[in-house]
Formats: sequence, C-alpha cells, structure tokens
Amino acid sequence: MLFQRAYAKINLTLDVLGRRGDGYHEVDMVMQTVDLSDVLWLEPRDDGEITMDSTSSSVPVDERNLCVQAAHAFRRRTGFRGGVHIQLDKHIPVAAGLAGGSSDAAAVLRGLNQMSGAGLTLDELAELGAEIGSDVPYCVYGGLAIARGRGERVTRYPHVPAMYAVLLHPRIFVSTADVYKGLSPSDFTDAPRSETMVQALAEGQLERVAEIVHNALERVTMSLYPELKALKERVASIAQRPVHMSGSGPTLYVLTPVQTHAQRLYNALRGIMKDVYVCRFVGGYAEAHARS
Ligand code: ATP
Repeated sequence: MLFQRAYAKINLTLDVLGRRGDGYHEVDMVMQTVDLSDVLWLEPRDDGEITMDSTSSSVPVDERNLCVQAAHAFRRRTGFRGGVHIQLDKHIPVAAGLAGGSSDAAAVLRGLNQMSGAGLTLDELAELGAEIGSDVPYCVYGGLAIARGRGERVTRYPHVPAMYAVLLHPRIFVSTADVYKGLSPSDFTDAPRSETMVQALAEGQLERVAEIVHNALERVTMSLYPELKALKERVASIAQRPVHMSGSGPTLYVLTPVQTHAQRLYNALRGIMKDVYVCRFVGGYAEAHARS
C-alpha cells in the first residue's frame, strides 16, 4: 500500500492576458501550496483494474474522477499494466478554487510512478499531467511557482515563504466556466504581477505581499455571487486585514506572517463559519525529496 499526500494551492496572483483562439484564456498566476491536504492510499490490484473509493460523496468515483483519469493516462504513457485501487480521504473542499482534484490527480501520477518503477522524472509527470487538466502540472511539483499559458507552463521557485493563510470556504457553488465567460477586455492586462510577487516573497517583504495579491476573476465572481461579496466585507471587518479570493472562488483567504495572528483570526472566524482552516505555506515535492 502506497501513501501520497495531495496538497491544496492558493493563487497569490491571477492575471488574465486575454482570450485565445482555442477558447482558453492566457493566464499568468503565482501559485503556492498550503498544508491542507487530501490523503490517497494506492493499493496494487492483481486483476489489472483501476478502481477507487472516496470519503466524500460530492466527488464521483468513476471515470469522471481526475484520479482515475490520471491512472489511465499513466498506463497509456508508460505501458504499465498493473491494477490499482485508490482510496481518497477528501479534506480539501470540492470545487473551491483550491485545485483539490488536480492535486489528487498529480498524487496518483507520483504514486504510480513509484509503484510501477517506471522512473519518469517530475518534468515528464508534469507533461503527462497537462493531458488531465491545466493545474495538474503545477500540482505535480507543488510549492511556489508561476504558471502561464492555460496554467500548464510552470516556473518553480524553491523558496518557502514563512507565511500563514487562514482559508474560509463558504458553501456557495461557483461555476468556473461562468466566471471565465463573464470576463471582459477591461479585466485583461499585459503587465502581470507574478514576477513582483515572487520577488517580494524571496526578499521576505511579507507585509507587502498582501498589497500585491490580485485576482482578475474576482470582479466577475463577486458580481455573479453577491452573497460572497457581502461575506468578504464581513470577514475584512473582523480580520482588519485584506481578504483575497483563490482561483475562481469561492474560497477566501487572509495572509499573515505571524502565527499567533493566524490562530486568533481562525478562532474569530470559526464563530461565524464552519469551514475555516489555518494553513502554513509549504514547499514542493522536489524540495521535500531533496531534504529526506
Ligand atoms: P481549480 O482550483 O483547479 O479550478 P477547484 O478547486 O475549483 O479546482 P476541484 O475540487 O478540483 O475544483 O473540483 C472541480 C470538479 O472536478 C468537481 O466538480 C468534481 O466533481 C470534479 N472532480 C473530479 N475528480 C475530483 C477529485 N479527485 N476531487 C475533487 N473533485 C473532483
């Protein structure tokens, strides 16, 4: 039985450069792994089947699950014939802007690579991940990175900022497709903030980071879901710090370099909402392996 952790990510920046001919948007984003994670157990099966179970009833456990798609993609790429049963203990909120599904898929790719002895590099796994979803290549590496293109072109930074994020997941369903459809040319930019963000993080200007955070999807999400806008204002008045949105939402977060501030804010927000998490920024899988 093989164990893999699949971490959530938050977007520290998300700029949209424009709409492409293939229907995707050209994005430029700073992604950061946080220590909220799903847990996957991969168990070899003698009959060559790919099966799965999940602790959450809100994700399918058939071919629609990104874990199953990842296992098929891995077998196509490597010729591995072994079967596997995937047990998914889901802790990352689903459809939350935290890339939970993509991270699970990346964990399956890393896990099967280990189980089969196929020996693909992380770069090869990331390339394979792009067939499954735009965020999967980033999730193969994790840590701090800039993702460009439709998200699949990843530049990694080994730095792990000493930062905490208090996450709130309001139970509001956000349609990512509707959010992207709602973008107008005034939301596009040709001066993305990603390099400035990475530099501020690398130089340890952690109080400046919250001023640089930007999410081009936020205007659309907040106008489609006014209840999220109202919640954001309420959280800002409790936190007395800027409140940001990850991905297309609805997850909101507040950053602080001070652990006791994060803990105090967590306690205050737990009074108004159930799904609150206090998280630390963590490094990528390559760094974790280098340390072990
Ligand atoms: P992103 O930040 O990459 O846009 P997300 O956090 O908004 O992702 P996910 O939690 O990855 O969204 O789920 C999006 C959809 O993918 C859901 O509708 C869900 O049914 C489907 N899905 C497929 N496999 C999984 C999985 N392993 N975990 C969660 N959702 C999955």
